[in-house]
Amino acid sequence: MAQAEFTTPALKPWPEIPPIEIGAMAHSRPFVAKQDIQQKIGFPGELVENWEQVAIAKMGELVDNSRALRVFLDSCVKCGACTDKCHYFLGTADPNNMPVARQDLFRSVYRRYFTLAGKYLPGLVGARDLDKSVLDEWYTYFHQCSQCRRCSVYCPYGIDTAEISMAAREIMDSVGLGQKYCNEIIGKAQTLGNNLGLPEPALADTLEGLEEDIEEETGVKVRLPLDEAGADILLVTPSADFFAEPHVDGLIGYAKVLHQAGLSWTLSSYASEAANFGLFIGSYDNMQKLALRIREAALELGVKRIVFGECGHAWRVAYGFMDTLAGPFDFLDPAYPVPQHICEVTYDLIGQGALRLDPSANDESVVTFHDSCNLARGSRMGDFEGGQFAIPRAILRASCNHFYDMPPGTIGEATFCCGGGGGLLTDDLVELRVKGALPRMEALKQVVDDHGVTHMAAICAICKSQFSKVLPYYGFEMDQVVSVHQLVGNAIVLGAEQ
Ligand code: SF4
Ligand code: SF4
Repeated sequence: MAQAEFTTPALKPWPEIPPIEIGAMAHSRPFVAKQDIQQKIGFPGELVENWEQVAIAKMGELVDNSRALRVFLDSCVKCGACTDKCHYFLGTADPNNMPVARQDLFRSVYRRYFTLAGKYLPGLVGARDLDKSVLDEWYTYFHQCSQCRRCSVYCPYGIDTAEISMAAREIMDSVGLGQKYCNEIIGKAQTLGNNLGLPEPALADTLEGLEEDIEEETGVKVRLPLDEAGADILLVTPSADFFAEPHVDGLIGYAKVLHQAGLSWTLSSYASEAANFGLFIGSYDNMQKLALRIREAALELGVKRIVFGECGHAWRVAYGFMDTLAGPFDFLDPAYPVPQHICEVTYDLIGQGALRLDPSANDESVVTFHDSCNLARGSRMGDFEGGQFAIPRAILRASCNHFYDMPPGTIGEATFCCGGGGGLLTDDLVELRVKGALPRMEALKQVVDDHGVTHMAAICAICKSQFSKVLPYYGFEMDQVVSVHQLVGNAIVLGAEQ
């Protein structure tokens, strides 16, 4: 485990509201993007000279274009219901990590420039000028929000801090103050097709190696096709699936499912990334560029369906925005939803009896499931309410004999973020990530103690990477996080297909 330069919070039996520590995380700031990274994705390379005016103009544009944002800024009644709902507040005790306080960093500036009272009586309505110290505070604390939307579930007005956080980041990018991790990744995905910068030959090699591994392990030749024109399904998956555990075991699981069901599919080297970090910085232009790559690949390959692999925010973008960003997708087969999640595909195949699963293959594991924020609160699955919660659990129950949920209030719509979402999965924010994982770790500890849970399954690449990093800080093993389709892949009886 990496040497911690901070104290990992102690696990308590249940999340407790910590005594407030003002400024506890004021030192936590991600690296700022350098000039070339910024310019590559259409932003000024450094803080522009008249940045205050540019920022206020951008804020005006955002509140004019988004009625939701304006309503969120105008409607808070300071009831306090959200204050203890953010994992970053629970893990860091910094009051600026209370959702309402985070919103107020933005709201105070909005009031100053866009409300009558703020213009003439700023002191009375908590309105502030946007000066350099406020901008610094924004950079610090809008990079301590994983845009998980948990606070919005508890707000009587549904105020969504995630939207405010995205708007703040968009404004900061517009004046030349961008975050290195997110913006570097967006640039790589736009030029090379994936976040890792994996070129086509490396991807082809990796897939060939995985085919050999599967054949060696099972004796069955399962293909992982790349750029096969005429395939029925284009599988778009997070590039983490191509190289790291437990992600790659999930990819093997998808391949086994599609193989046993006899479905024709392919990956694309041009659209070899499901993740879309444009969401995290609130940039529709950048989101659109990545979404268009998927459209172009689908047209080029002549597929009939698009299926997404296990990635939370990718699914949110695909489910919520893909048609607007890159549609219409009227060239695809109307018999299937556009897009489809791999869990929906697997769930339907299980329902049709098209997969032969032996759950005893996972008998060494006692499994729980982590609902990822963007799936739980930012999208849906299937054609029934709550499908995003029921479908992954149904798949796990069909693949494992021992499954236990974590406590209510920590799962489903109330799920706690892994601590690394929203573009914060970077080593320069490791303290924040570890502390923000506290509520999830406490819930996990409870099922470990009560039911002997050995593994936590997830369907989000960011959650899996984050847990691999932070589990050891809390006394767990990094390989206790697994992909849902890894367990499916273990359970599939290959060679049993009709
Ligand atoms: S969206 Fe999530 S991370 Fe952001 S303030 Fe709300 S609970 Fe905290
Ligand atoms: S719950 Fe909603 S209305 Fe209440 S303080 Fe939080 S954001 Fe404001």
